[in-house]
Amino acid sequence: MRTYQDPRIPRPGTLSRRRLLKSTVGVAALAAMGGLALAVPGVSFAAAMSKEDRDKLTPDEIIDLMMRGNERFRTGKMLRHDYVAQKRASAAGQYPAAVILSCIDSRAPAEIILDMGIGDTFNARVAGNIVNEDLLGSLEFACAVAGAKVVLVMGHTACGAIKGAIDGAKLGNLTQLLDKIKPAVQATQYPGERSSKNYEFVDAVARTNVRLTIEEIRHRSEVLAALEKQGKIKVSGSMYHLSGGRVELLS
Ligand SMILES: [Zn+2]
Repeated sequence: MRTYQDPRIPRPGTLSRRRLLKSTVGVAALAAMGGLALAVPGVSFAAAMSKEDRDKLTPDEIIDLMMRGNERFRTGKMLRHDYVAQKRASAAGQYPAAVILSCIDSRAPAEIILDMGIGDTFNARVAGNIVNEDLLGSLEFACAVAGAKVVLVMGHTACGAIKGAIDGAKLGNLTQLLDKIKPAVQATQYPGERSSKNYEFVDAVARTNVRLTIEEIRHRSEVLAALEKQGKIKVSGSMYHLSGGRVELLS
């Protein structure tokens, strides 16, 4: 493991990221692609995404960079994030490339499983990755005000909220949240046992839930629908596999 004492690795804050990239053989071509692309294992990732970096990227390139981050995560080759330096670099302004709508599940922390740093992505988390008007407002802020170019809805396997919706669980305010997932239970075509004990069914409902959430985003947010029609943003779905750690893009 390299340390900051290694003369080949600049100490955080002593070089700009651009100079750091230029000093690293073989990654000059990635420099133009910004912070999310700094996929050099062992090299400290000290800078936050700049506006210039973010604005150069297309929505598809941003999705690709997030998938590469997930590949680093699941193969144990994560970047060495210098969070203190990233915090310092992003304090004056943020230019995140994407907003991720994911579940609150403690095993599915979006920034970690996509190997992102401070300032790279917005993250909206709610049990079962559903939307309501507050979450839609948050996604609209992320894209229309702050300039994010991707809305990534991320479900996950073995989701407790999905199981609760299948079982018709009732508890305080959770009842109303689970009601929002029930249409996905009904819309899931599945020939086998439709039970929360059948993980294959649970995961099939989670996929349907991602699809319906995306439809709802497009249907209920004129702001986001218009940005997507103009090609300025892309709304995509994905499933995180707790076992294996892969983020699978859904078409
Ligand atoms: Zn969940």
